[in-house]
Amino acid sequence: MTKTIGIIGAGQLGLMIAQAAARLGARTICLDPSADAPAFGVCDEHIVAAFDDLAALEELCRRSDVVTYEFENVPGDILRTLADRYNIKQGIEPLIDSQDRLREKSRAVESGLRCARFADIADMDTLKRKAGEFGYPCILKSRRLGYDGHGQMMIHSVDDLAAAEKMLSVPCILEEFVRFDYEASVISVGDEQTGYIHFPVGRNIHSGGILDLSIVPAPEMNDDLRRRMVAKSEEFMRRNRYRGIMAIEYFVVGDEFYFNEMAPRPHNSGHYTIEGCTTDQYRELCRYLLDMPLEEPRLKAPTVMKNILGQDLAAAERIAAAHNDNVYVHLYGKSESRPKRKMGHITFVGLDADGYYETWQDKFVKQN
Ligand code: AMP
Repeated sequence: MTKTIGIIGAGQLGLMIAQAAARLGARTICLDPSADAPAFGVCDEHIVAAFDDLAALEELCRRSDVVTYEFENVPGDILRTLADRYNIKQGIEPLIDSQDRLREKSRAVESGLRCARFADIADMDTLKRKAGEFGYPCILKSRRLGYDGHGQMMIHSVDDLAAAEKMLSVPCILEEFVRFDYEASVISVGDEQTGYIHFPVGRNIHSGGILDLSIVPAPEMNDDLRRRMVAKSEEFMRRNRYRGIMAIEYFVVGDEFYFNEMAPRPHNSGHYTIEGCTTDQYRELCRYLLDMPLEEPRLKAPTVMKNILGQDLAAAERIAAAHNDNVYVHLYGKSESRPKRKMGHITFVGLDADGYYETWQDKFVKQN
């Protein structure tokens, strides 16, 4: 019998989950507050409603065989009331933990992962004391609702502390600044019964707090580091009984890696898997949700993924029109383009970092 996957959120991640589900013969129903959300064009049914609309969320669950989320900030306490009665297969724990930076980093440390020093900051005195302890620069982040560098402030010296005070109207954490060599992420799918699969690890390059490029395999990473990073990620899932999909972002310093954050949903740094791997993060999430056996992914060839923000949309459209071999342009069909809004991505299969910089970099707006 055809199964229906309910997806909370209908942004680009929801769109790609819905496409993967359709290819596996499943139906999808998405819930999102915006009437023209990207996934609404491809899912079978949709509900336009706020993420805190309990009746609408319940309707989504009622009409679905299994429910997932592509958006992290669904109020956890609302989902809690539904989790007992409906099949939210990943559970709500990874979602709730990922919604609070203090909670997620504490979980990471308890699970044996290394983290940059961090502290809960509720007042100015604690901020001053901890900034003195961690040294400058350090980073103040809101505990909740932060993404892509939003809700954070770099504190370069004591002189910045006064300006940071306005952030303290909400609970924050202070983090030691990590002078990382590069950033990397591990995306895993599974649970204790199914076992876990892991996608090849790439190097992630951010610009202005937003992912710009993923280069896979990560050029400087040796096999031992890659193995340890994957093993620790799996252990983190096991120890916390996290099920389904989990993306963990790390800072790499020499031979060591520091947990930065986690996301219990498909991840921007895993877009490359659609064409770059033998199976992709969306497909494996759907296979997990549909109780199908997981498939271990393999990288087909070195791959580069370039995020397309509003300022690069016209360039992406030109590249799409040129129909180059092994260049896959994804445009999400968002109605309004803005400079820092994620409008699409391009995956270059069979290309390494040097090839990208030589041939493609100057087609896009220069990153700082
Ligand atoms: P986040 O929203 O926490 O992922 O932060 C966005 C980006 O800011 C990260 O991908 C890093 O490039 C940078 N960043 C965040 N926290 C730190 C840190 N503690 N040390 C150095 N860079 C950081």
